[in-house]
Amino acid sequence: MAQLSDDCFAFGGPMMSVDDAVGLIAARVSAVQERESISLHEADGRILANDIAAPLPLPPFTNSAVDGYAVRGSDLPLQAEAVFPVTGRVQAGGSAQAPLQAGHAMRIFTGAPMPVGADTVFMQEDVRLDGNGRVVVPAGLRPGANVRPAGEDVAAGHPALKAGQRLRPQDVALLAAFGLPHVDVRRRIRVAVFSTGNELVSPGDRRGDAQLFDSNRFMLGALLARLGCEVSDLGIIGDDRAALAGSLEQVGRSHDLILTSGGVSTGEEDHVKAAVERAGTLVLWRMAIKPGRPVAMGIIGGTPLVGLPGNPVASFVTFVHVVRPTVLALSGAAQEPLLPMPLRAAFTYKKKIARREYVRVNLRQAPDGVLEATKFPREGAGLLSSLVDTDGLVELGEEVTRVELGQTVGFLSYASLM
Ligand code: AMP
Ligand code: MG
Repeated sequence: MAQLSDDCFAFGGPMMSVDDAVGLIAARVSAVQERESISLHEADGRILANDIAAPLPLPPFTNSAVDGYAVRGSDLPLQAEAVFPVTGRVQAGGSAQAPLQAGHAMRIFTGAPMPVGADTVFMQEDVRLDGNGRVVVPAGLRPGANVRPAGEDVAAGHPALKAGQRLRPQDVALLAAFGLPHVDVRRRIRVAVFSTGNELVSPGDRRGDAQLFDSNRFMLGALLARLGCEVSDLGIIGDDRAALAGSLEQVGRSHDLILTSGGVSTGEEDHVKAAVERAGTLVLWRMAIKPGRPVAMGIIGGTPLVGLPGNPVASFVTFVHVVRPTVLALSGAAQEPLLPMPLRAAFTYKKKIARREYVRVNLRQAPDGVLEATKFPREGAGLLSSLVDTDGLVELGEEVTRVELGQTVGFLSYASLM
């Protein structure tokens, strides 16, 4: 387990900015050290443990980029068509029987190695056959055309992938192209997730009149799984301080991170804070973020805990800014800064200065072709439908106080947050 000191998340200010939170987490959380070698089939989404330098050039040998006729560059006609006898044939996976003689062409196919002597290929669409086994080629082709030199994609020894990279399908393809059947990655982090609140009941259980089905636990579990975590679903704990403290102590020993939702506000039925204080050390971050409210950070027996607010939208937004960087840091992944895409606001908005705000929006293409964002009509932090029926979030910086129609704003798609 990655052990953290008790005061690791202590922060002096009254309101924590989103950037301070991300910076503090990245600086204080240390990565799990265990590694494992896995097959490429399991590599998507895993965190690369070591730098990978190209063990061979890509492509590994010089080859034809098209189906056509290979010739010598010095034979290329400059002014008028020329006619070459076709001698030999080389297809992908094969090799030419003999070097290409001057004044001749060789039939060649995409991916086939260039015959010795040949350095240029005519596309078959650009030539014609004269019926006597000869090919008629046009003037004006550049020497070297339609050939892929060895190493033009990746040179041997090139630093191709960095330790800490969260592997994507195209990264897995690169490892395969290098001929590596296995890859060393960090082990998955183990995250315990539970919900708190007497009003909650699990889907499938009987719901009382004053109860609602727990949705956060499933959203958070799914978000964690997308970030490559091994998730333990620990169900619902009622608003009971002793029960909460006991559960926290127990799960801390076998997990790298504990994630809760609900019960972190300042009402007397919000027991997560007190339970964390009993089981370990708590700091409460009053984050300058909307939707958000307080987020609890704690350490229980060396294991970090994040307590998210219960309202689903607040839970989602604070997950992105607090849990996501924590998970990346614990996993040994490079931090992946969120880069909002500029697009045009098709709404007006007023906000308070000195806090970060996220507006739920849909994308549409305006009649002039520009991509614009329309605002979801309602704003409550409890509206799950506002996350379901939108495409992403418009990020409004601390300094912004209003958005005017047509202004450029930054958009984060939900896909980019996971
Ligand atoms: P709390 O943060 O505990 O004060 O909860 C704020 C609001 O979020 C309340 O209306 C809760 O019922 C609701 N809530 C808390 N936890 C969940 C959950 N796991 N799923 C859905 N709603 C929740
Ligand atoms: Mg509650």
